[in-house]
Amino acid sequence: MTATAPQIVSALLPWYEAAHRRLPWRPTPGGEAGDPYHVLLSELMLQQTRVDTVVPYFERFLAMWPTLEAFARATEDEVLKAWAGLGYYSRARNLLACAQKAAADGGLPQDVPGLEALPGIGPYTAGAVASIAFGVSAPVVDGNVERVLSRLDGRSADPRSTQGRKALWARAQQLHDATEASGRHGDLNQALMELGATVCTPRRPQCSECPVRPHCVVRASGEDPESLPVRAARRKPTLVRGVAGLLRIEGGVVMGRRPPGLLGGMWEPISLELDKGDALRPSVVRAFSERCGLAVQVAQRRGQVVHTFTHRKLTCTVYDVRGQGEPRALDYYTEVRVVRDPADVALSTLARRILALGPQLSLPLAADGD
Ligand code: SF4
Repeated sequence: MTATAPQIVSALLPWYEAAHRRLPWRPTPGGEAGDPYHVLLSELMLQQTRVDTVVPYFERFLAMWPTLEAFARATEDEVLKAWAGLGYYSRARNLLACAQKAAADGGLPQDVPGLEALPGIGPYTAGAVASIAFGVSAPVVDGNVERVLSRLDGRSADPRSTQGRKALWARAQQLHDATEASGRHGDLNQALMELGATVCTPRRPQCSECPVRPHCVVRASGEDPESLPVRAARRKPTLVRGVAGLLRIEGGVVMGRRPPGLLGGMWEPISLELDKGDALRPSVVRAFSERCGLAVQVAQRRGQVVHTFTHRKLTCTVYDVRGQGEPRALDYYTEVRVVRDPADVALSTLARRILALGPQLSLPLAADGD
């Protein structure tokens, strides 16, 4: 039998108070609400990204831009450079657009509809900011919460299905309704997420440490908790081929700034994605002529980089390239130039890995994720 919402809440909140991890963006449980800017920043950084990867980025962002207003004055280039290596760069662009809109309006909206109206803010982030920073009763259902609630209630619906998702959000709302008296909506959301991240983990959940174990349907059934949540088979990533050329001119490398879309605004050595049947070396020549107006010769093959994006697996073959002239942005890049110091531009992890294949261009690899 599934537990009542008050039973779950009254087991969860004291556990969270005692067992939560201290993280730089987290308010003290039961204490003051979180700073809305810190909550927004951390929530966007944490999407698809591990906590230990996020912590140094979060601290660096706050050192550079201590307030929402200061951040709103940053340029997109500065933000992408600071974000480089965290991946999913649309988050960085959305964060800046959000901050600019909110700063112009006098601060972040304090309710879910207002937050959801900001660029790139979905129900999850809106709920997290509204509950943690403003104490609003707003459920959030991320991967961790999906797992906890699926196991706790023994739910067999795929949480990514419309029906499964609706049921989970409704259940999360019940838990918030049971939290109304204490008003600890932010703590409740964080407790559910924390339980999923540290105890009710995807593999080998620590049921013996779990505060809601007495109420857990899957445990009581004797089934393996890892069998939930049920997931539809993952789509296999599409295999994509590409080439990149390292052309050195006057101590720098010719690079282009990508257009909006995947890795939009990030810089890379001149590259091209191939169609079926395209030969590698002629494609490098084509990339330089079509994308930056240079006639080049392709020299030594430097190696290959295999890089996985969410639904795509790119195999990029990298060549040294010889040529001269003044590169200019033609039909693809929004800007092309000779980059002498890679620290001057925002580089994705993929671009860093391509550059690392060239001589004297070894760069520290940032965290993965893009
Ligand atoms: S008892 Fe085990 S399966 Fe159930 S919620 Fe706790 S950790 Fe997850």
